[in-house]
Amino acid sequence: MSRHTSWRVGGNADVYLVPADREDLLAALSVLEKEAIPWMVLGGGSNLLVRDGGIRGAVIDTAALNRLEFLSGGEVRAEAGVVLGQLIEEAARRGLAGLELLYGIPGTVGGALAMNAGVPGREFGERVESALIVEGGTMSRWDRQRLRFGYRRSALTSGMIAVEARLLFSPGESEALQTVLRERLAYRRRTQKVEGANAGSVFRNPPGAKAWELIEEAGLKGASVGGAQVSRFHANFIVNQGKAQAEDILALIQRIQKEVESSSGIRLEPEVKIVGENTALNG
Ligand SMILES: Cc1cc2nc3c(=O)[nH]c(=O)nc-3n(C[C@H](O)[C@H](O)[C@H](O)COP(=O)(O)OP(=O)(O)OC[C@H]3O[C@@H](n4cnc5c(N)ncnc54)[C@H](O)[C@@H]3O)c2cc1C
Repeated sequence: MSRHTSWRVGGNADVYLVPADREDLLAALSVLEKEAIPWMVLGGGSNLLVRDGGIRGAVIDTAALNRLEFLSGGEVRAEAGVVLGQLIEEAARRGLAGLELLYGIPGTVGGALAMNAGVPGREFGERVESALIVEGGTMSRWDRQRLRFGYRRSALTSGMIAVEARLLFSPGESEALQTVLRERLAYRRRTQKVEGANAGSVFRNPPGAKAWELIEEAGLKGASVGGAQVSRFHANFIVNQGKAQAEDILALIQRIQKEVESSSGIRLEPEVKIVGENTALNG
């Protein structure tokens, strides 16, 4: 899985599926259910830590579910595998406003929906009217209430796949929107310049505090385990210095949790999703 995750770590999956379309996805799910093969869904892999022993069962990669339709009145239908940046760029070109502050967040529409990706003051879920969700082999439309968006979370759990999001944008001015996109990218390049492969913010901000500040205050900037290091530029990022194993990143996550808790009394919880098996050696 190291080829499919932004951290560039993780062992192999037993089965790797890339459904060509919705029908293909439903057919694959019915075989997996019948054979009792466990599965998980993968978008861009930019918020995912896969352990070194890999994934027992199947990974369903949504990359080919990439239809993007612009309808009238600001309505947009984006399949799960559409790259978030592509959706925002295309919307800006058409003079549709609403998600430009999220420009630069890697990953897919499905991942942004599941994680309610966002920046301070703006979240993906704000623009979602409804989504097509597959659960237990059947597909149904969930409205935004049912999707229960919260800080970096939604009602989606393992066993559910978002197939398509229906979004509602506001009218805007194309040139001005494209200028905002250029500014956002420049801002991200300045503030998120880090030393290597990473998965963005590792920990959720606890209520009333900032994870990066707590990590800095615990003196952990630059701390490392094996090939994993707390970024010197952004303390809530852990970078793969080149040869890190998932095991190194996990050990560093645990060290940060322990030391931040002893210095501040606050237990940091990971924002990244941790999946897969340990190896026989580190199990
Ligand atoms: C450099 C960098 C900067 C980042 N900055 C931000 C930021 O500013 N704000 C922010 O919120 N995040 C940020 N992230 C984290 C990440 O990009 C987001 O969480 C993103 O929305 C994840 O999308 P993905 O497609 O990569 O999801 P993945 O990593 O593939 O999956 C994440 C979770 O979503 C689930 N999932 C994926 N697709 C689906 C689907 N179709 N249906 C159901 N579940 C699904 C997966 O099973 C997994 O549990 C950053 C990451 C990096 C590497």
